[in-house]
Amino acid sequence: MTASVSHDLAAATAALREDFKLLIDGASVGADQALDVINPATGRVFARCPAAGRAELDRAVTAARRAFPAWRDMSFEERRERIKRMAQVLRDHQAALAELLTLEQGKPLGQARDEIGRAATQSEGMAQIAIAPETLTQDEQRSIELRYYPLGVVGIITPWNAPINLAAGPLTSALYTGNTTVLKPSPYTPLTTLKLAELLTAVFPAGVLNVLAGGDELGQWMTEHPGIDKISFTGSVATGKKVMASAAGTLKRLTLELGGNDAAIVLDDVDPKTIAPKLFFAAFVNSGQVCMAIKRIYAHERIYAALCSALAEEARKARIGSGLDPQTQLGPIQNKEQYERVVGILEETRRSGARILAGGKLPDGPGYFMPPTIVADVDEHSRLVQEEQFGPIVPVLRFSDVDDALRRANDTRYGLSGSVWSGDTERAAAIAARLEVGTAWVNQHRTTSATVPFGGAKESGVGRQYSVLGLKSYMEPRVISVLKQPA
Ligand code: NAD
Repeated sequence: MTASVSHDLAAATAALREDFKLLIDGASVGADQALDVINPATGRVFARCPAAGRAELDRAVTAARRAFPAWRDMSFEERRERIKRMAQVLRDHQAALAELLTLEQGKPLGQARDEIGRAATQSEGMAQIAIAPETLTQDEQRSIELRYYPLGVVGIITPWNAPINLAAGPLTSALYTGNTTVLKPSPYTPLTTLKLAELLTAVFPAGVLNVLAGGDELGQWMTEHPGIDKISFTGSVATGKKVMASAAGTLKRLTLELGGNDAAIVLDDVDPKTIAPKLFFAAFVNSGQVCMAIKRIYAHERIYAALCSALAEEARKARIGSGLDPQTQLGPIQNKEQYERVVGILEETRRSGARILAGGKLPDGPGYFMPPTIVADVDEHSRLVQEEQFGPIVPVLRFSDVDDALRRANDTRYGLSGSVWSGDTERAAAIAARLEVGTAWVNQHRTTSATVPFGGAKESGVGRQYSVLGLKSYMEPRVISVLKQPA
């Protein structure tokens, strides 16, 4: 099949944009170094922004430390009001931010708008959560209370697949709980985060929020920096391990939200045609570049053939192209390195003799496009099944026995999430509870909320984001133990 790809000529020929600044201590500033940013739909540089070095990082950390006591001493209500204003800024500027996000990230405009809307909703949701002192003992002799205090300065490092949503979660958690922040977006997608920072200067006092674009080395300097108390990192498992090792030098607190290889187990009592669109969307949204996308589908042998054809049909219908084209459902892969990695997995899969049911043929023309590709009869030990592909290619594997499907789904160092699909929700829930993951869904995948913890088991992460559990991980518990006897 040859995929038809819509390209955006206007985006390909527009002048280089350079209207971006870092945010340090409440001021928009430049830097000596710069980062070129590529539009993945054209493969061309369309913008340039300042890149922070060690000096900018030191200034940002100093500003954040200086701003910390006053911000810490505000009440939760006062900080909630600021978070609400941040959410309002996201909504007021949703259209312009979404367009920039599509240009740098590649995702369709509608999904870029959704990402920004979701960042607003999740932030407001988190800022409604109460962190109350807990009474552990209260009797005539003793009172023992557990209280939570902000940590200080939180360094936030984000990836390129959902830069605004994945900044908003840690940012709200850190700020609402009384910490100040230094945020570093991915060098592939720094622009929307920098624009948002500019808009937020009116919302947060100077130094409370600092935003630095920069390369991978900037991330490493943050993890080593003695002025940063916690790192909230979202990215790959490999980098997560480096972050953990590097943060050990100063014993920083850590939240690591890492990669996944999510399995969906489809039982024999479903209607393949009805669930295929749901499975397809959960696997291919953002061209598969979602940590919790479905990355392996285990289908019962009774419905295997029918599900394979229904998924292939969905893949053939999907329209790929520039995210700026309103008809586009799937955009490009975000960057050249990732494109080459996913193409490598596709080629290995083809060589292995697996059946490619839809997609698989790379379109001509510029941009990092790959059509949604459905693969059947693939070896369990292939890269496509074992690795996190993080791209638009998904294997459908056959099983005849649920215990065997569970064993194969769990036979991985990843443990982010997974799902079970069935007409019998109770049976499915019992099976889902045996998935070794942070979140196990039934008849859905990718549903998260501000009040529900999200994070990975095994090598998919450390700690949880969102919910009271997530918020408390941006705080230090302190026991106040009183012996009720005058000294
Ligand atoms: P990445 O690990 O390459 O980079 C993530 C960030 O880390 C970037 O900002 C990068 O500049 C920075 N970085 C690179 N080297 C560093 C170092 N040594 N020290 C500190 N920071 C460093 O990840 P990516 O390719 O941008 O993102 C894709 C990955 O992120 C996938 O594995 C995906 O599953 C994962 N992800 C996880 C979640 C989650 O919530 N669990 C969400 C989205 C993405």
